[in-house]
Amino acid sequence: MKQTLTDRYDRTIDYLRISVTDRCNLRCSYCVPPTPFAHMKHTDILSYEELIRLVRVGVSLGIRKVRLTGGEPFARKGLIDFIRELADLEGLEDLAVTTNGTLIADEIQTLKDAGLTRINISLDSLKPERFAKITGKDLFTEVKRTIRGALDAGLAPVKINTVLLDGVNGDEVEDFARLTFDHPVQIRFIEYMPIGKGSGPEHSDLQAPAITRRLEALGPLTRVLRSAYDGPAVRFKIEGAQGEIGLISPMTNHFCATCNRLRLTADGHLRPCLLSDTKVDLMEALRSGADNEALASLFRHAVAIKGKQHDLSGHTVNDMMSSIGG
Ligand code: SAM
Repeated sequence: MKQTLTDRYDRTIDYLRISVTDRCNLRCSYCVPPTPFAHMKHTDILSYEELIRLVRVGVSLGIRKVRLTGGEPFARKGLIDFIRELADLEGLEDLAVTTNGTLIADEIQTLKDAGLTRINISLDSLKPERFAKITGKDLFTEVKRTIRGALDAGLAPVKINTVLLDGVNGDEVEDFARLTFDHPVQIRFIEYMPIGKGSGPEHSDLQAPAITRRLEALGPLTRVLRSAYDGPAVRFKIEGAQGEIGLISPMTNHFCATCNRLRLTADGHLRPCLLSDTKVDLMEALRSGADNEALASLFRHAVAIKGKQHDLSGHTVNDMMSSIGG
């Protein structure tokens, strides 16, 4: 019989997001601090062997979906071989990646052949110069090639993650939305979250309600029904569009009641919630010889202490997004 992980609030936890590295080749202004900061030591990062072992334990307990993120997952050497290995794990039904798309424009078919099911590509501006300003690198063309390649390879659905900030890229809501007229992409507007001390602005006024009003001006919006492996996005289609728009609103309308996730950080900690610094140390157990049952207990413990909902009143999350895994 298949095992399931269920928490105190009757949520089934079947989704593990893994940060494979806290390093990234970009420096997005809202994600990392402008001043130099320390990265995890290589020796403190889970090896691929350790990761596979932990995923096996997770799958034996009821994890069905894994997403690789970071930092930039493709900044870590050997990721494609790791994806191949993960894709072969019995019981794992869905394997996705969130990437900035700057390093893999020529690897899309290889990734698909390796067993990657889906891809989310982050892109915060359609203007090359602005892209370079936000990310610190002039790599807009590479991201565009990656998106094109993912669409051509049929890695459906191709999702584009966009964080909108007033005064930065807030004027691009309509331009992003119009992409869905001609392309079968899902544009996902993600509300800015206060994560990582000193990283981004305290808040952005450009949140889901204001974005929705601007989308409505482009044409009638129809709600798209949820499907398997749907994330937390509330999805819409503008009349006549090929693609969809998703609104992810952790700040204005949180989706904690349906949260099915655990996060594994690159240094081996399980976090029950992105927006809380609570974590369970798997690394210590793993490197001091714990057997699979002991590791399974730590997974169960992380699920048992998962809070009902996040609470950001009066504080931000200390750890940086790149180390938790966005
Ligand atoms: N490097 C990969 C990428 O760019 O997609 C994966 C890691 S990145 C941290 C994952 C996602 O988190 C990106 O879509 C990014 O825009 C988003 N993100 C980073 N900081 C954020 C914040 N403070 N609030 C909301 N989203 C954020």
